[in-house]
Amino acid sequence: MRSRYVVGNWKLNASLPGNESLLKALLSGVESQPGCHLAVCVPAPYFAQVRSLLVGSPVAWGGQDVSRFDKGAYTGDVAGGMLAEFGCRYVIVGHSERRALAGESDAVVAEKHAAARRAGLVPILCVGETLEERQRGVTEQVLARQLDAVLDGQGPQSLDGAVVAYEPVWAIGTGRTATSEQAQAVHAFLRARVGERDAALGARLPIIYGGSVKAGNAAELFAMPDVDGGLIGGASLVADEFLAIWRAAGLAPGRN
Ligand code: PEP
Repeated sequence: MRSRYVVGNWKLNASLPGNESLLKALLSGVESQPGCHLAVCVPAPYFAQVRSLLVGSPVAWGGQDVSRFDKGAYTGDVAGGMLAEFGCRYVIVGHSERRALAGESDAVVAEKHAAARRAGLVPILCVGETLEERQRGVTEQVLARQLDAVLDGQGPQSLDGAVVAYEPVWAIGTGRTATSEQAQAVHAFLRARVGERDAALGARLPIIYGGSVKAGNAAELFAMPDVDGGLIGGASLVADEFLAIWRAAGLAPGRN
């Protein structure tokens, strides 16, 4: 039975007082759900604050990026070991905003994935096609290229214990969600691609969906057999909305 994951991505939206009120509201309504994992990925300067508020709660925390290097002359980078020191469990790697805005190539993303594993973090590997790529009919080629960079560069076992997030770029922050059928088709493709290297790994790999997930569409998405939860941007900044998405993950039907 695969676990489900609901992970908030705060992006560049945080402040000391804002984080405190958001997390206190979250904690006042959250309940553990068997087989489900809940986390927020926050900007690095707030790790200490978030740890102090969330330690011992059902909500884990993580980062939004990690250096591909462990230490050295890499000004501005934050190493995986630093995230781990602040109790981070997760780190997002290869988010489309970093691929587009920071020019991260598939190879760099694969190196970051490896750095996260070295630090004992759970990488959340983001893959996704642009609208132009979908319209050109090359969605599967793009996703295969992004996934294979990790499979080839680090070996399939590097995905064991990791999470993959399918995030169509055209659905992120746009209010335009992939239909549950579109998401399911891609998730099944990604699972099969990993399964070609290692069938058991493909079957147990958690693959979550991200792109304008809200309380109103989460249940339908999470009911798909290969959708194991969500990576949530905008809606993770509103406690009631994020909690409703979390509850939808708990109510979703079981899967093998
Ligand atoms: C994201 O940033 O990973 C994301 C899915 O954002 P949103 O939910 O706002 O589309």
